[in-house]
Amino acid sequence: MKACIECGGSFQPRQYSADFCGTPCRQAFNNRRARRGAILYDLVMIEARQPDAFKAEQLDEAFKQLVQRFREEDAGRKRTHKRLHDVKYDIADLLRTRVNETAKATAP
Ligand SMILES: [Zn+2]
Repeated sequence: MKACIECGGSFQPRQYSADFCGTPCRQAFNNRRARRGAILYDLVMIEARQPDAFKAEQLDEAFKQLVQRFREEDAGRKRTHKRLHDVKYDIADLLRTRVNETAKATAP
């Protein structure tokens, strides 16, 4: 038995690497990551493209506050992000391909 990283409930994993008791928990986990990731992505891109505005608006402080908020919301959870190994794999994969090309390749 394993503990679901979203709801904490115990479940019998079909695969050793399984983290979720079922689809709703996996979707909740991934939706939260996507919502949080979208705002962090926008902050990173504003910093890259409008560094003066980023500084003037003190967005570095907003970034820190967001991370602090996420940590507070996640208090008591085992893990709310991907494993380091998986993140490194995703980075390498993304650097090998372009997201727009990937979208075209997978379009019906
Ligand atoms: Zn669950």
